[in-house]
Amino acid sequence: MASTESQPIVIDEPDTSFAEMIRATGGPNIQSCFQCGTCSGSCPAGARTNYLVRLIIRKALLGLKEAVISAPELWYCTTCYTCQDRCPQEVNPTDVIKAIRNVAVAHGHMLMNHRKTAAKVVETGHAVPLDKESWQKLRASVGLEPVPPNASGNPWAIEEVRKITKVSGFEKLIGYEELMKAEAEKAKKKE
Ligand code: SF4
Ligand code: SF4
Repeated sequence: MASTESQPIVIDEPDTSFAEMIRATGGPNIQSCFQCGTCSGSCPAGARTNYLVRLIIRKALLGLKEAVISAPELWYCTTCYTCQDRCPQEVNPTDVIKAIRNVAVAHGHMLMNHRKTAAKVVETGHAVPLDKESWQKLRASVGLEPVPPNASGNPWAIEEVRKITKVSGFEKLIGYEELMKAEAEKAKKKE
């Protein structure tokens, strides 16, 4: 995929409170970024896509809130933390991305795959649930109990998770009901 780094940044209506919001919720040093590019140069997600963490940070500092939170690339970060280890300014780029994602979700921006992963948390208590028999066999083959002692094998724990995700507003935030309806309709069409 082509890099977006060479495209000009257009500043129509800068939101000056955006960087302040990020500073308060996960990126206290975001203003120390001097655009060295170490983060983007180290980023495995950026090596395969048009995702540029450095560019997102630059745009955030320029107050381009809408452009930043609505960009699909925001969700390409794998949270591997390589950039966080290497940033010479202790900007903590991974935490910055996570803080921006929180704002994005609150404004209704989230990629479908991430919504589906969040739905797995609601349904199973895990973002990556042990929902395949083959995985249980794999665990057993290396001497582990097939189902670990977590929500995977404890329906009551899943019920508790469900209560938490409902009461906390997490389900509403990810549009869980709408997602389930859409999935059910899709399944019906396949019948
Ligand atoms: S490594 Fe740190 S200082 Fe350099 S561009 Fe990335 S966030 Fe900014
Ligand atoms: S944490 Fe995200 S932005 Fe940082 S190097 Fe890993 S994938 Fe790239």
